[in-house]
Amino acid sequence: MPERKNITRGLRFTLTAVYTIVFTLLLVAVSLFFRQNLASNLDEQAHEDLNQNWAIVKAYLRIVNDKGQNNYHAVWVFDSDDPEEAAAVAAAKKVYTIADEKGRVMDGSTDDQTLGLANPKEIRAALQAPGAQFSERTDEDGVPYLIRASYVNGEEEPNKKFYVAIGTSLAKSHKLLRSFTWQGAALLPLVILTGITIGWIFAGRALTPVLEIAETAQRISGSNLSLRIPVRGAGDELDRLIETFNQMIERIEVNFNQVRQFSTDVSHELRTPITVVRGQLEVALFTAETVDQYREAVVNCLADIERLSQIVRALLLLSQAETGQVILQKQTLDLVEIAEGIVDQFQIPAEGAEVTLRFIAHTPHCTGEFDRVQIERMLSNLLSNAVKFTPAGGEVRVIIDRKENEAEIRVEDTGEGISPEHLPHIFDRFYRVRGAGEQASPEKGLGLGLSFVAWIVRAHGGTVDVRSESGKGTTFVVRLPLTVLAGARQIDEAGLIVTGA
Ligand code: ADP
Repeated sequence: MPERKNITRGLRFTLTAVYTIVFTLLLVAVSLFFRQNLASNLDEQAHEDLNQNWAIVKAYLRIVNDKGQNNYHAVWVFDSDDPEEAAAVAAAKKVYTIADEKGRVMDGSTDDQTLGLANPKEIRAALQAPGAQFSERTDEDGVPYLIRASYVNGEEEPNKKFYVAIGTSLAKSHKLLRSFTWQGAALLPLVILTGITIGWIFAGRALTPVLEIAETAQRISGSNLSLRIPVRGAGDELDRLIETFNQMIERIEVNFNQVRQFSTDVSHELRTPITVVRGQLEVALFTAETVDQYREAVVNCLADIERLSQIVRALLLLSQAETGQVILQKQTLDLVEIAEGIVDQFQIPAEGAEVTLRFIAHTPHCTGEFDRVQIERMLSNLLSNAVKFTPAGGEVRVIIDRKENEAEIRVEDTGEGISPEHLPHIFDRFYRVRGAGEQASPEKGLGLGLSFVAWIVRAHGGTVDVRSESGKGTTFVVRLPLTVLAGARQIDEAGLIVTGA
């Protein structure tokens, strides 16, 4: 029991662990993707803001030279009465610096002081570059800025270039990103914990039927093989597992019952003659006085002992046959000739029982690879039954025919027949229909004849089919392949077809 629990726990743990790892990785990947997306959106927004401000700079900033050479200054030309225009210019001027080629600052916002925007190296780069130069820098308070550096041309001298850098604070977007990261980091363990709990519960639920199967399997023993696991009706893999398991138990139950029945039958079959022998010997011992009386008792005992050894021999042979210890001695034989010979042998007993015995061959020859001894045994068993269970005045026919690659032997009688409830069992060892034929025949059957027939047919790769109608007669149809199939001996109980009429 503890071992089984460990297995389930192990499986449950593995399922939950795998699920948690995959779930966590996915969650982290999705969070990183969203963070990255947010960062690039914020970045794009900052660039767009700066480009808009640059458009304002271009529209309202003039660099004029009003007092002769080299005396330039920046003039913002806009309608201060227009609040929109004034606000736009104020926004553009929030962080800005204007310098000439030599790095002399001509105008600028107070915010830019610590950003060091008018740095000669950057001025040179900005004046030479065809497009705008973007860079990120931090002021002395640690506030990050995005800077757009470019140039404007002088109003009177379009060839003269003036360096203009404008900037926008990234403090808000950085704060947003930071809070996204922190919130994600704080939520992640919580989400993972919830995931683990849900995973653990679901894995447990999914494995409950497996546990049930294991528990039922453990409860099943020889005495309660009828136990079955109820199918849940979900039609899923576990239901299929349960169905397969139930079918397996059913097969085991059938086999187990057969073995049990067989042991009961064997002990019963052996006990009766032993009891009789013992009784006869005791009676002889206490009551017999003359030699003849003793002789009579001994003769009776010998007859019973003969029956005992017959049973033991037949059983031994049958179990050797069924465990593959009897090797067929196959040779090329004509079934018509063999069947005719056996029918001839049965003519005298048939006459004695006032039964007409006929042999009909629809083919002159029917040649194949057979074991003569076994085929003769099979035909004898079928014929002796047919004669035994057919009352006086009846008829027994042995009909042989060839159908493509198959020989068909039919043993038909007009006897008492076998009722449908007995039909499925007549090939079982020791199975006898009680009272059947016993009045007609003094010889009591062992109930092993048809078991031999079944084995012989199977061993030759054929099938045996029985049809019977109570009071009207029985027909056994044996089909044997005329060309030997590889692995024919593997053909199992499927070789037996039983049909009630
Ligand atoms: P047995 O030695 O008793 O004949 P079998 O295995 O040959 O044992 O047959 C099993 C039982 O099948 C018989 O006891 C009999 O009841 C039934 N049976 C077999 N062949 C016939 C038949 N031709 N007609 C009626 N019953 C038959």
